[in-house]
Amino acid sequence: MDREVLDMLADWHPQMEAIDMALEMRPKCELCNRKLPADSTVARICSYECTFCADCAERVLHDVCPNCGGVLVPRPTRAARV
Ligand SMILES: [Zn+2]
Ligand SMILES: [Zn+2]
Repeated sequence: MDREVLDMLADWHPQMEAIDMALEMRPKCELCNRKLPADSTVARICSYECTFCADCAERVLHDVCPNCGGVLVPRPTRAARV
């Protein structure tokens, strides 16, 4: 996922700006049930907050959400960055 695509997503979904604030952290992958804690760097979400792990997103789903057809992007981590 490169910067250009992320900018494009932000154009489609103005509410994506609010995702950092409002994101409901789902604790596991909806496909393989792998645990995805809030500080996980391998979580992927769509704009409707369907949540998958990087393995499923890349190898199985090809970065397309199976629930809503949206593009899957890396989920921001909630842990403080140092
Ligand atoms: Zn998974
Ligand atoms: Zn979705």
